[in-house]
Amino acid sequence: MRRKLAAGNWKMNGTQTALAELSALDGTSSPTVEVLICPPATLLHAAKGVAGDVAIGAQDCHAAASGAHTGDLSAPMLADAGATYVITGHSERRADHGESDAIVAAKSQAVWDAGLTAIVCIGESLEQRDSGKTLTVIGTQLANSVPDGATGANLVVAYEPIWAIGTGKVPTIHQIGEVHQFLRAELVSRFGNDIAGAIRLLYGGSVKPANAAEIFAVKDVDGALVGGASLKASDFGPIIAALTKA
Ligand code: PEP
Repeated sequence: MRRKLAAGNWKMNGTQTALAELSALDGTSSPTVEVLICPPATLLHAAKGVAGDVAIGAQDCHAAASGAHTGDLSAPMLADAGATYVITGHSERRADHGESDAIVAAKSQAVWDAGLTAIVCIGESLEQRDSGKTLTVIGTQLANSVPDGATGANLVVAYEPIWAIGTGKVPTIHQIGEVHQFLRAELVSRFGNDIAGAIRLLYGGSVKPANAAEIFAVKDVDGALVGGASLKASDFGPIIAALTKA
């Protein structure tokens, strides 16, 4: 039985005062649902101090463990600051920083080498969706962004259609189900039934309290990666509650 995951990505939002939103979530994790917040790196250490039963993650890392990379942070540093998860390959990093699947795979391997769990993000553009290429695109991203050696403990895959992020647009329930079942099948053929069956698949893109229950009822959706609606406990709390009920 996979433990579900409600993951919040604060992106480049939040200073010390935002930690009150995190501490308000303490007590929302349960044996069936893990709650995770990925604040900006500047808040990681302080976040760990107030998070209680909420896990803390980072939004990116460098592929190297240390070295001459001014301004970058390595996975061992993020672990030292209290992170147990690292998001890799978010579409905003792929777009803003030119991160290829190969770079995402190298970063994900670095996450594993530091003993952390990688949340590997994949997703199609609107143009790719409209031209019927969704499964081909995400199949290629999955194959090339996830290194060999995945397990249920070290890998979470987040399906985030680029056109749904921050837009208020959400794929249909049928579209979400089609992609998640495809992803599960791809993982089974690469890693086998046992490992693939333990890897959590998240949906991400404009998840809100109002649509969460419907999305969480879809087969093979094991939770969500949530951007805007994770910034306030009053929004993220009902999403966690919907996942707990699902
Ligand atoms: C995200 O950026 O991972 C995301 C899903 O954002 P939002 O929930 O705001 O669409």
